[in-house]
Amino acid sequence: MSLYFDTPIQYLKGVGPKLGQILRKKGIQTLEDLFQNYPRSYEDRRAARNIASLQPDEIVSIKAEIINVSSFNLGRSRKKMFDVTVRDGSGLIHCKFFRVPYKGYFERFQPQQQVRVIGKVTHYRGRIEFHHPDIQEIKSSDEESQDELIPIYSETDGLTTTRWRKIVSKAMESLNNDEILGIDEKLPAWMLDRYQLPDLKKTLVSIHQPPKGSGEEYLNYRSPFHQRVIFEEFFWLEMLLAAKKQGVQKDKAPVFLKKSRFAEQLQKSLPFELTGAQKRALVEINADLTKSYPMHRLVQGDVGSGKTLVAILSALLAIENGYQVALMVPTEILAQQHYVGAKKLLEPFGFRVGFISGHLKTKEKREVNERIASGEVHLVVGTHALIQNTVNFNKLGLVIVDEQHRFGVEQRKKLKKKGESPHFLLMTATPIPRSLAMTVYGDLDVSIIDEMPKGRIPILTRMTYQSKRDKVVGFVRDQLAKGRQAYVVYPLVEESEKIDLKNATDEFEKLKQELPDFRIALMHGKMKSDEKDQVMNQFRNHEYDVLVSTTVIEVGVDVPNANIIWIEHAERFGLSQLHQLRGRVGRGEHKSYCILSLGHAVSEDSRARIKLMEDTADGFKIAEADLELRGPGEFLGSRQSGLPGFKMANLVRDLPILKQAREAAFEVMRKDPNLSNYEHKALKEELLHNKDMIG
Ligand code: ADP
Ligand code: MG
Repeated sequence: MSLYFDTPIQYLKGVGPKLGQILRKKGIQTLEDLFQNYPRSYEDRRAARNIASLQPDEIVSIKAEIINVSSFNLGRSRKKMFDVTVRDGSGLIHCKFFRVPYKGYFERFQPQQQVRVIGKVTHYRGRIEFHHPDIQEIKSSDEESQDELIPIYSETDGLTTTRWRKIVSKAMESLNNDEILGIDEKLPAWMLDRYQLPDLKKTLVSIHQPPKGSGEEYLNYRSPFHQRVIFEEFFWLEMLLAAKKQGVQKDKAPVFLKKSRFAEQLQKSLPFELTGAQKRALVEINADLTKSYPMHRLVQGDVGSGKTLVAILSALLAIENGYQVALMVPTEILAQQHYVGAKKLLEPFGFRVGFISGHLKTKEKREVNERIASGEVHLVVGTHALIQNTVNFNKLGLVIVDEQHRFGVEQRKKLKKKGESPHFLLMTATPIPRSLAMTVYGDLDVSIIDEMPKGRIPILTRMTYQSKRDKVVGFVRDQLAKGRQAYVVYPLVEESEKIDLKNATDEFEKLKQELPDFRIALMHGKMKSDEKDQVMNQFRNHEYDVLVSTTVIEVGVDVPNANIIWIEHAERFGLSQLHQLRGRVGRGEHKSYCILSLGHAVSEDSRARIKLMEDTADGFKIAEADLELRGPGEFLGSRQSGLPGFKMANLVRDLPILKQAREAAFEVMRKDPNLSNYEHKALKEELLHNKDMIG
């Protein structure tokens, strides 16, 4: 019978219903799934190993001769252990089995038989041995015809890599004999040509059965075949993002024809000049705002790089064109801060600023809602309360979201509905490396503010150890005596909130004794947001000298007098998180310090990682390093990751391919927006099929 890519797996020769069921449990439903279950790695038989050279924990493959097969009872139990002893010219090793892999397994082996043993070298009671390795007989002809690189598949219970290999080679046989029809090349010919990608069939065969003479490029995913698979994985994601962006571009945007007179005036009145990066961002924003479709731009910039000012200048343009602006921020405190700041800048021009949060009294809420609805208020600063049904704008033209990563897609959608496809300006102080921005934020345009205003005094960062606590406390004491304030941060380990709270409370008490002359506050995760806001406000008003915190201190909170942040167990934080925390200080005229204290049993790796914080203040560099060290999932945090799982592609390793795939996808959508070109038929089908993958 003919097979297709979507033929259920049990119809493959040699599979059948039983194995089919096991495979289905592993997520392998069809032939295509089987082909896409790529080898985890390759066993390199060119580097022949002998027994004497084996090291614990290595996964190896060796050629050896069986000298003995035996079984004995384990202790007094009826359990049996099997031992297959093998040797080569250099030594001898035991292969132990605590269960029988399948009936008749051991009967296959006799002394003097040549075998290949594949498995992990285990260190046990002072010597090395194999536990449950894969033992294959070598029929001499067999081994000769073997390729030099043998694919290794991830072993799952019941399916050894050898078993996988057998199943795959059956499929390959069918593929090579052209029994599998409908192996559709989905990428158009021009694309394969331009990026020099091999065709699909050749790719699959080569990846699962590396041709003779293959080498390094297979082991490090750099063969043309690996490159093609990686390209394609990125390409489908970028197609979705390109389509999403195209969807947005169909909307009609509010028209901003007038130039902003007041934005220029405001800039002139400032005691400083905009940085080059701020100016660039503004040029990009202004260009977006005169297009026929709504802007969707993300401004990334370190804390203190002056994003707020960029936002206010953009808001002026909208207001002067007769539109209202909404500025949404994640917390009450930040909202108040922005409200005060915006009033100062906008009121001199005769523009009115409103404030809305969940904390307003009913009457106040009604009042501000009326002023928003009538159009009397030009800019509304608010928390989530902005998206409530009771808030209706007269003419909303621009939405600005600060710390946008704190909001979900749904919340942005709701804000969008409050106007007629308003422009969106998103801001974040959590820089994301370019590779991630291209995937997570692939449908947005990005401006990067990578330049700090002149004259900032750099923050001095020092790594230290908990054993040096007295010195740290002494330093903090001196600074407090000079009238400064300090943050002390303890990590939050999510699985044991209770213990954490106890730790923080203990530490808090200890610190009170060590610094008896100063006022110390505690802020922890169990507190309601009202209580946290209150403590934070008191700290800002210098009613406290030290703020001990177990939760991450609100991003963007501005306490210029605080000049020390002391982070305990710094090794438990991601670098980007540490960088965020560090941004709480260095906001005033005083020299600021970041003290990173390491626990007792910290690995050399962690130490090196934290040390990086001493050397750079560049949030983008730190984010790159963080991504490389922790991988995309951890870097973004599981909650907001939203990253599709790639089977082979790796965002750090394969950045150049990502760029190509993105370029290709956006070009397709630009040149053939409806994918009506016959060459793009397969693209269209795949796109429709994948559409639900992203929000
Ligand atoms: P962000 O929102 O990026 O963290 P802000 O917009 O709050 O940063 O800016 C931090 C401070 O720097 C504010 O007090 C702001 O007035 C000031 N500032 C902004 N741009 C400049 C500049 N170009 N030169 C000097 N100071 C600036
Ligand atoms: Mg800000």
